[in-house]
Amino acid sequence: MNKFYLSTAIAYVNAAPHIGHALEFVQADALTRYHRAKGDDVFFLTGTDEHGVKIFEAAQEKVMEIQAFVDMNAKQFEDLKGILNLAYDGFVRTSSEHHKKGAKKIWTKMFEAGDIYKGTYKGNYCVGCESFIPEKDLDGEGNCPMHKKKPKTLEEENYFFKLSKYSDAIKKAIESDKLLILPEARKNEMLNLIGDEGLKDVSFSRPKDVLPWGVSVPNDDSQVMYVWCDALSNYITGIGYAEEGEEAETFKKFWPCDVHLIGKDILRFHAGIWIGMLLSAGLELPKAIYVHGFVTSEGQKMSKSLGNVVNPLEYVEKYGTEAMRYFLLKEIPTADDGDFSHKRFLEIFNSELANSMGNLVNRVVMMTERYCEGKVPAKTDGAGVYEQLMLSVEAYKAAFERFDLKGACEVLIGVVNLGNKYIDDKKPWALAKETPELVPEILYNLLELLRFVGILFSPILPECSVKILKQIGADSSDIKLDSLKWGALEEGENVQKAEVLFPRIEE
Ligand SMILES: [Zn+2]
Repeated sequence: MNKFYLSTAIAYVNAAPHIGHALEFVQADALTRYHRAKGDDVFFLTGTDEHGVKIFEAAQEKVMEIQAFVDMNAKQFEDLKGILNLAYDGFVRTSSEHHKKGAKKIWTKMFEAGDIYKGTYKGNYCVGCESFIPEKDLDGEGNCPMHKKKPKTLEEENYFFKLSKYSDAIKKAIESDKLLILPEARKNEMLNLIGDEGLKDVSFSRPKDVLPWGVSVPNDDSQVMYVWCDALSNYITGIGYAEEGEEAETFKKFWPCDVHLIGKDILRFHAGIWIGMLLSAGLELPKAIYVHGFVTSEGQKMSKSLGNVVNPLEYVEKYGTEAMRYFLLKEIPTADDGDFSHKRFLEIFNSELANSMGNLVNRVVMMTERYCEGKVPAKTDGAGVYEQLMLSVEAYKAAFERFDLKGACEVLIGVVNLGNKYIDDKKPWALAKETPELVPEILYNLLELLRFVGILFSPILPECSVKILKQIGADSSDIKLDSLKWGALEEGENVQKAEVLFPRIEE
């Protein structure tokens, strides 16, 4: 049995979840469900990033005790489990004792390797970014380009991490695909960033009076870990890196990570600093980093000031979890930017889910009731359907393996369309009058095609998948891809009409 460990980035809890978070969670969920259906032993980790100045200040603004503030905000992210139907196995919170213990452990390993040293940092510090900004990155007026504010000049004592020492090793790992970065364009982007000059050492801590909310540096209470060691280490602390005995088993079994799923804005930290940290601490490197893009809203960047921030909760309440999952996976290019528009949401829902998919299920089940007394007819060899189906299954798997969930959805809709076209070509209602003996064979082919559709949908729309399989009398208890072989549907099983899967939205 293969193991498969996937992590998402941990969400920063200074605001409520938005559609971009939903995209990453749903992608992660589909990928891990796919691996479960393949028979892999899966661990899916997500969580929240709860330290830093911005959170400290946001809590003060709300006049809340800081732990209570992060508890409240973290819960909004934990609640997405139900809202988006996520089957994650672990939820790591950086303010937890387990995590802090692990962050200290990796710091100590790096320190013992001689890779952490004390130095003075002087630079332009933007509070909004929570980071120093190099002179060359300031805009024409000397402001932070993101926040349009003049940064403070800060000089302070920091610990630094000797990232430069690992620059060549990191470059080699990326070039050789030992650390696979997908899509390819992001791999090149990272290699360009490393360039000939290589990666520079990074500030690794802040004085406690500047960063009052974080993890203390081991053996130096005056310093607090900067975001790198605090946040990136979640990928090991969340599976028991610092634990002992039985609690350490998950780490032993699942590390190294198979996929870190992240947004394009944080690639350089994951493919640079994090890899350097692991090399320093003597830990194995993750196998892959999958990078997704951003979601715009009605063609524009989402922002509070434009008032176009899409709240995934509202859509789920109105149209259902599966409609949201389908839109994010099918409509947003998996590894690129995409747009969320209300009009398109309704179009996709009505044309693909309500019409193509819903109608196919409905037609096949109704015809089976009408022409075959509601029972699965005798098995066939699948001529006319089977070959195309098997090609689709291969294309679907290939899409999942190369991080193309949109591609997998397109293959699936292709199978649905194949079914609809087969009905239109064969016209079972006409045959029923003239040569009724030919109808059962056609319906068996269609029911078996629907079984394939039900199984293939399981990583994408898990509820719909079970509903389809139940309606055609197929087993829906433990859905595995290896049951994608012709003829598993047994003659005589009862087919049962159920409520419409996706009722059309009229607005
Ligand atoms: Zn800034």
